[in-house]
Amino acid sequence: MHANLASPRPTIARVEPLTRTRAVRGPFDYRLRPEQREVDVGAVLRVPFGRRTTLGVVLALATESELAPERLAEPDAVVGPGVPADLVELAGWMAEQYCSTPARALSLLLPPGAAAGGREPKPILVGEITEPGVRALRGGERLTERQRSALERLEQGGPTLATALGTATLRRLAARGLVALRPLGRTSPAASMGVGRRLEGIPSLTGEQRDALDAVLGALGGAGSGERAAECFLLHGVTGSGKTEVYLQAVQAVLAGGRGAIVLVPEIALTPQTVGRFQDRFGDIVAVLHSGLGQRERHEEWLRLRRGEARVCVGPRSAVFAPLADIGLIVVDEEHDASYKHEGDPRYDARAVAQRRAEQHRAVLLAGTATPRPESVVSLRRLRLPHRIDGRPLPPVEVLDMRGRHHSLHPRTRMALADVRAAASKAIVLLNRRGWSNFLSCRGCGRVWMCPNCEVALVLHRAQDQLACHHCGHRRRAPDSCPECGSVAVARHGTGTESVEQELREAFGSELPVFRLDADAAAAKGRLAQTLARFEAAPSGVLVGTQMVAKGHDFADVALGVVLDADQTLRFPDFRAEERTFALVTQLAGRVGRGQDGGRVLVQTLAPEARSITLAAHHDSEGFLAEELRRREALAYPPYGTLIRIVCASADADDALALATRLHGLIVPSGATVLGPAPLFRLRGRSRSQLVIKCHDRLPTLRAVGAAVDACASDAVRRGISVSVDPDPQ
Ligand code: ADP
Ligand code: ZN
Ligand code: ZN
Repeated sequence: MHANLASPRPTIARVEPLTRTRAVRGPFDYRLRPEQREVDVGAVLRVPFGRRTTLGVVLALATESELAPERLAEPDAVVGPGVPADLVELAGWMAEQYCSTPARALSLLLPPGAAAGGREPKPILVGEITEPGVRALRGGERLTERQRSALERLEQGGPTLATALGTATLRRLAARGLVALRPLGRTSPAASMGVGRRLEGIPSLTGEQRDALDAVLGALGGAGSGERAAECFLLHGVTGSGKTEVYLQAVQAVLAGGRGAIVLVPEIALTPQTVGRFQDRFGDIVAVLHSGLGQRERHEEWLRLRRGEARVCVGPRSAVFAPLADIGLIVVDEEHDASYKHEGDPRYDARAVAQRRAEQHRAVLLAGTATPRPESVVSLRRLRLPHRIDGRPLPPVEVLDMRGRHHSLHPRTRMALADVRAAASKAIVLLNRRGWSNFLSCRGCGRVWMCPNCEVALVLHRAQDQLACHHCGHRRRAPDSCPECGSVAVARHGTGTESVEQELREAFGSELPVFRLDADAAAAKGRLAQTLARFEAAPSGVLVGTQMVAKGHDFADVALGVVLDADQTLRFPDFRAEERTFALVTQLAGRVGRGQDGGRVLVQTLAPEARSITLAAHHDSEGFLAEELRRREALAYPPYGTLIRIVCASADADDALALATRLHGLIVPSGATVLGPAPLFRLRGRSRSQLVIKCHDRLPTLRAVGAAVDACASDAVRRGISVSVDPDPQ
């Protein structure tokens, strides 16, 4: 734009203060000082606000304000580099789409560390347990529950990032000499990521890969050229069909055209090889943003993107906010993965945000998976890779009926594992439940050990001799006897990854080493990648764990995959239960038989006839999708309708219910179907009441919900009731 002499540089900044409260909504006008006149939309300012100061983001600039100039305050300072203007617009969109506020949405996409006020990022601390710390754990030293659990995790997991365990907790322990804290040395993101196979050079594509890539390149050629909207593709390729190579070559083309790319992956710790492939191929032009990095490193990577020194950003869902100036392509790898949904307010879905960002930049969206979501099948243009590279077949899947059986392993599973041991090859065993057993009960009086804060049973973790709540983290010592009746007969029910690990060790001895991968075994950052690397390096062994073991790992030589209790996910009262179960079985099968010798999969279940299990056993994703879409349509579930969930939580059950009822009354006139209020189980000491809203007119309903929540906001705050709104719940 030309500088117009008649219109002077704007002197007023419209600033959104970054407060958490719903009640305060900007923007507010501030008068820029002469030396601040260079600020632009997206600048981060420290501004006086009421009696204090706060950070704020410039939403717009103006030459005049409705308020007289002398009534306007001046910003104290400009903080850091600010965010690009397109992200400010994106935040506004997110606030509306997720019934949140612009301030909350903006807080998510500030430069790392900006929330701390733009000061030099603090050093990243690593904690390590000391000798006195170990003694304190054994002896009767006074420890709070949190301190004890932090010490235990340090003892088991080795040195751990302080933030993972609570820096404040560790500082207090350090003051008592129980923990040593030291700053982390600079670690290279690539250094810890040696898992997986890498090809020398760039492979020539198969015909199917070529066709898929050509479609993307065609869209890239047209993208950015004025009228065209973003083009969005779904790369539906079976596991091992070479989707990553298509992403890589599409990114190559985007870079050659002078634009940038974002590559979203589910969780870096679980998919280090994907990141490694991008770094190997493109070198320094790749920035990696992930939670294993300290704030300083994240800040540096962010700045490299902002300055254009890096033009490819690889990272988990928050990487969708990478500050790239000109985006040509956004890749969403494993688009079915639940980690793309953010659990805090705003409860954004990175897949939807990616699509919005692609529209803003007229970029191409490329979402890939072997198990697409019904939503994506309906809304994206599908490209298919129906065969594995080299034409290796998908492994045969056998369903094993567990009804009437009392051991956790079916005889055929035992035999198959014995074969694996005899052949000195590898197996993966998936059980989506950690711990030793699901719950404990007293044989004398039937008492079940429950969490004091939540209405759920406590799970036994035998390694620590503890009972743990998987919802709130409460832990206590495992009981020797019943406090009600004094009986010492305590029954353990069900199995978890911990007991399966033990069972495998006992059954197969040291010839078949067992590696466990779950949130307990991986409590320390870096342990996940280590376990994966050890399993990969071992000549033979079993990897046992939760759904983590089924994520996109590319191990060459896994001959057997086993799913235990496959219908476990089906028992959740959730319309996505079928989709999840199908994906879990299919994704595990995807890890198997990638080597020369092929492989096979066994699925143990109490529901051998369940559609999601039989269709997964036949690798029939078309059949599954067709039927799932029919079912969703009949019930007006996504993608044929929008769901919005509202949860009111309060120490007092009546308060939560009363607020949900009031919201119900406020939302009904919008014409949406409002189900509830329904009680949810008590969580973290708070009673909960839920509404589910079903609608066809998404935006008007979201606005009605937002208005209803706003109307109740100050009352809710006063009475200590929290309200969370979750559009598109997972
Ligand atoms: P997916 O992501 O679809 O599961 P991957 O991208 O992991 O599949 O590819 C599976 C394996 O095949 C990888 O080891 C990859 O390097 C290799 N590969 C991919 N494309 C080709 C190709 N055109 N020629 C040879 N090998 C390939
Ligand atoms: Zn009892
Ligand atoms: Zn609990």
